[in-house]
Amino acid sequence: MEDRQFRNAMGKFATGVNVIATEVEGEVYGMTANAFMSVSLDPKLIVISIGNHAKMLERIRQSGKFSVNVLSCEQQEESMRFAGQKQFEDKFEFDTLAGVPVVSDALCQLSCDVYNEHTEGDHVLFIGKVNDLVLEEGDPLIFNCGKYRRLEALEEVTQ
Ligand code: FAD
Ligand code: NAD
Repeated sequence: MEDRQFRNAMGKFATGVNVIATEVEGEVYGMTANAFMSVSLDPKLIVISIGNHAKMLERIRQSGKFSVNVLSCEQQEESMRFAGQKQFEDKFEFDTLAGVPVVSDALCQLSCDVYNEHTEGDHVLFIGKVNDLVLEEGDPLIFNCGKYRRLEALEEVTQ
């Protein structure tokens, strides 16, 4: 099976878009990621998946902490910035939540400690224990078939 065919298949599954952020020795780093899932309610656990070529991998290992920031449909530029899809001249200012850098105006900010990690193939799964969170109103940015999209309400399905 070709990589492209597999990616096309995975791209059929529409997701939100997150920025993962962490701080190492006073420097803050962000990375766009859509591989994310809620794992457990007790304790409160989530999972992210970081490719083994991403610089974010060692950064999270070094800090032992990271945030997950669910982007709104107004934040496509933030996604492009932290995926290296577009270069920006200005400095990006992060907020802080429970000692971890977070993206302002994200629909949801989760501040996490690394709870566990598992290497699977060419990615590392980080299980995060959620210590604090902040929620905002708004619609999410969507990623589907390799494109950014926005939500549109559908007619309610009648029984
Ligand atoms: P870098 O290449 O160093 O950083 C990424 C970009 O962010 C660079 O352009 C850098 O200049 C900028 N940046 C970082 N920190 C700052 C800062 N403090 N201020 C300003 N700019 C900064 N990869 C995965 O491993 N897992 C995923 O789940 C995943 N999902 C993705 C979903 C989407 C929709 C997209 C578009 C990409 C996804 N990627 C994913 C790919 C990943 O975002 C890129 O490969 C990314 O460039 C890897 O970043 P890096 O950690 O190597 O760090
Ligand atoms: P795409 O068509 O490559 O992505 C479609 C789907 O394929 C993604 O949502 C993801 O589920 C999967 N996918 C893509 N690359 C993957 C990888 N290296 N490992 C595991 N799954 C992967 O979309 P695109 O517009 O070409 O993506 C932009 C860039 O972001 C590409 O370089 C892509 O590799 C990267 N990306 C990486 C991941 C990831 O590592 N989990 C996820 C999404 C996008």
